[in-house]
Amino acid sequence: MLQRACGVIICLWMAIVPVHATDYLVKNQSDYFAAEKKLQAGDTIILSNGVWQDFEITLSAKGTAEKPITLKAQTPGKVIISGQSNLRIGGHYLIVSGLVFKDGYSPTGEVISFRRNKNELAFNSRITQVVVDHFNKPDRFDNDYWVGIYGQNNRFDHNNLVGKSNKGVTLAVRLNSADSRENNHKIDHNYFGPRPVLGSNGGETLRIGTSKFAQYNSNTIVENNFFDRTDGEVEIISSKSGGNILRGNVFFESSGTLTLRHGDNNLVERNVFMGNGKDHTGGIRVINKGQTVRHNYMEGLRGSGFASALTVMNGVPNSPVNRYVQVSDAKIIGNSVYNSDVITLAGGADAERSAPPIDSVMSGNLITAGEDGPIFRIQDDISGITFSENARIGAAHANHPDGIKTIKAKLVRAKNGLLYPRKSKFSKYGVPRDLKPIKKEEVGASWYPKPAAANKFDGGSDIAITPSEGVIEKAISNAKGGDVIVLADGEYIVSKTISIDKAITLKGSGQTKILFDRPSLFEIAEGGSLRLEGLAIDGELAPDSVGNALIRTTSYPIQSNFLIEMEGVQISNLSVNKFFDVIKLGKSTFADHVVIKDSKFTNISGSILLAASETEDYGQYNAEYVDIRDSNFENIGGPIVNLYRGGRDESTFGPHFDLKDNMLINVGLDKNNESKSAIVLHGAQYTKILDNQFVASAPILVNHTVGRPQTRIANNKFISTPKVNIAELNYEGEQRVILNDNVYVEGETE
Ligand code: CA
Repeated sequence: MLQRACGVIICLWMAIVPVHATDYLVKNQSDYFAAEKKLQAGDTIILSNGVWQDFEITLSAKGTAEKPITLKAQTPGKVIISGQSNLRIGGHYLIVSGLVFKDGYSPTGEVISFRRNKNELAFNSRITQVVVDHFNKPDRFDNDYWVGIYGQNNRFDHNNLVGKSNKGVTLAVRLNSADSRENNHKIDHNYFGPRPVLGSNGGETLRIGTSKFAQYNSNTIVENNFFDRTDGEVEIISSKSGGNILRGNVFFESSGTLTLRHGDNNLVERNVFMGNGKDHTGGIRVINKGQTVRHNYMEGLRGSGFASALTVMNGVPNSPVNRYVQVSDAKIIGNSVYNSDVITLAGGADAERSAPPIDSVMSGNLITAGEDGPIFRIQDDISGITFSENARIGAAHANHPDGIKTIKAKLVRAKNGLLYPRKSKFSKYGVPRDLKPIKKEEVGASWYPKPAAANKFDGGSDIAITPSEGVIEKAISNAKGGDVIVLADGEYIVSKTISIDKAITLKGSGQTKILFDRPSLFEIAEGGSLRLEGLAIDGELAPDSVGNALIRTTSYPIQSNFLIEMEGVQISNLSVNKFFDVIKLGKSTFADHVVIKDSKFTNISGSILLAASETEDYGQYNAEYVDIRDSNFENIGGPIVNLYRGGRDESTFGPHFDLKDNMLINVGLDKNNESKSAIVLHGAQYTKILDNQFVASAPILVNHTVGRPQTRIANNKFISTPKVNIAELNYEGEQRVILNDNVYVEGETE
């Protein structure tokens, strides 16, 4: 390098003539760190294409506005950072681009950090076209951020952050030192890809600030990002600081809300929330002073409570900044709310949150009403909100506030994909015509594919097998995700526990019988999901071993959420010892759903589903949706389902439990069943037990813990079966359960 080795005369010459920047193409880590030490303003380090294993990248340098320092991939997308790796940048005018983090995880608390260490933050720096794809710590409850932004004037744009399944915010803006506040960061055009339900607090996709520094302004702009199925927990975005602008973002089928949790004078505008009828899809939740929420579009949202399409909260009188500051000077203007379930005003009112919104305005908003909703839930005095020039299409519900007039308008979908009243005279209501929702293909790194909304069990091939030794094991081991293994009629004997590490369907005709001579037939591993169809599985050959289970999870944590489905299966004779379960979910494992339909279970000593491993009461649990219908259960020793969600925090939507049109005979009465119950639900948030028959069985036990559990037990027939037990563990007052049209009879059999 000429300029590094120059003599006095050349250096003098160089002081007046612009120096040529140096490009360092590096092929290994030691060359990288050697080059990093030499970096001058204007230089570029290029990582050669390939996989870089266990690479903790640091970029510590000082560029200038005219001559930034760049770290980039030789070819964008062809430089893979894997294993135990991360990236920390500190200094000024740094640019990083083109890297892909996958097949590994960060050994520290962050994958990408806009600081080299506590004392060396990044300023005026940019990370663009970088991908972090399923870069999760092995234990889902081991915490990290994928991106931590510190310093000031930084930009994070056109990146893909996909599939975070361990605990911790996906992207956090930190205000924990003076030079990270009033930061003017810009977070734009990023693709926030699917974030599965975490099953605990700590699944936010984006957080700006923390309650500790809530009195400071962050002045961060979050603009034109696409949030695709970001379902981690109740908060998709948690703004915990002041002066932020959240503008032009699209929230597609994402459960949760954009929450102005702490801090004042934030602007939320021109965002689009498309729920498509998915559970718990919400909009915007308003807390604190001086918030402006204007020209936002909400359609097809199914959230309620704190996840309503729009929630204006009650506050705590004289609240400290980090509790619930009373809403004042809120301006909620020109929003469109169509075909959504609920708008909540003075939300969360209780003995502590007793200060209703004041000095606030709602005007120019347009909502649908009638059957399309939304309904209003008004939980305290709303005289502090002035309603003017709002309109609704369709009949008013009983509790619609005054100041919303009914108009007769027809909504037509415009070119931008949004609905508007056909007649221009109504254009003063709702979102403006020039709102242009950002498209998925306009965000993120263009060279990296974005995940499609596919069913895990679809998209593969059919693989036909006939009975012979080891044939099922072999077929599954050779199969690809989405494949369906079609079993010809006959008897199959399996002599190994089969590891399921992809989505696999096993499909029989109903005349297909499987026996197994190990303690478990299937073990769900990382990446695995299992669907059983038309099979008869008999446990008579299984050995007597502690903790037998037809389907178990690995003994170590599983990062990825999985699915278990059974349809038209018959499972019998899991009875060699006293606790032989059908499905047993272990610690740090999480099922998005367990679905059982048209199936029959007989002579089983344990449970059909044991989802009760998270017993430390941290608010973690094992399954989001459990759905059992049209099935028979006879001679089951344990409860058919034991679903446990302990703890007191309210950051999750689930678990959900549905039991419909089933027959239970002699369930839960084994002397070893400590619960003495046919079903045990502890901390489930949504429970529906409808149209079932219970014959000579133990009672149902429902423990309500936190949140607002919604439990409905109706149209069931209980024959020689004791009454349902409901316990309110942390709540004084009436039992929160709807019990109707249940019939109890003694002695009758059918
Ligand atoms: Ca949270």
